[in-house]
Amino acid sequence: MKLFFFKNTLTSTRNLTLTLILSLTLLSCSSNELINLRVAKDRVKDYYESGKYDEELNKIYNEAKAQIEKIKIKDNSAAIFDVDDTALSNYEISKRLDYGYDFQIIQDWVMSAKLPAIKQTLEFYNYLKIKGVKLIFLTGRNIEEYDATYRNLIEQGYTDFDTLIVRSEQDRKLGAAQFKSQKRKELIQNGYEIIICVGDQWTDLEGDYTGIKVKLPNYLYETK
Ligand SMILES: [Mg+2]
Repeated sequence: MKLFFFKNTLTSTRNLTLTLILSLTLLSCSSNELINLRVAKDRVKDYYESGKYDEELNKIYNEAKAQIEKIKIKDNSAAIFDVDDTALSNYEISKRLDYGYDFQIIQDWVMSAKLPAIKQTLEFYNYLKIKGVKLIFLTGRNIEEYDATYRNLIEQGYTDFDTLIVRSEQDRKLGAAQFKSQKRKELIQNGYEIIICVGDQWTDLEGDYTGIKVKLPNYLYETK
């Protein structure tokens, strides 16, 4: 009786182990798998800090340069750059907030004008500058943030740009993509020919007059 009980326990343990292995295998294969928030944050941290982010940016900009080399640059050729997480990095503040969000802290951070440049973007910006391409910043930041943004860009090495476009009071009702495509249309009407558009959000690249679309990775947030 004792032996039978022992054998049964062994079989149950083996079955439980098999079930667990099977469940874990199925879970890891499932596309709807829920990821623990801590695990997700650690994966994002690893992506940004292990060199994978830099590697991806290098690859993206090398491809962009290959595309630019095929274009004949004219006097009115222009490149559009987004600001946040395209020209300047918010990674530091995002990490300090444990990859969360706090309106006031982010606001103070923007106004501090101390965001570091994303070095691959700055390098690409300078590459276009040498080619004589007009450089334009188009950001969803508000008019109150204009001075801090302007100063931040200059201090981080983004010099000699044509224009910095921010949201005016009447632009605030527009969605990100709508605002940006409207401003691009106005630039075209003012004589620019947009050859390339660089942004970390799809809303930076939706609509007309983008030229070559360069989408940078952003695993911190998404703007609709
Ligand atoms: Mg952005």
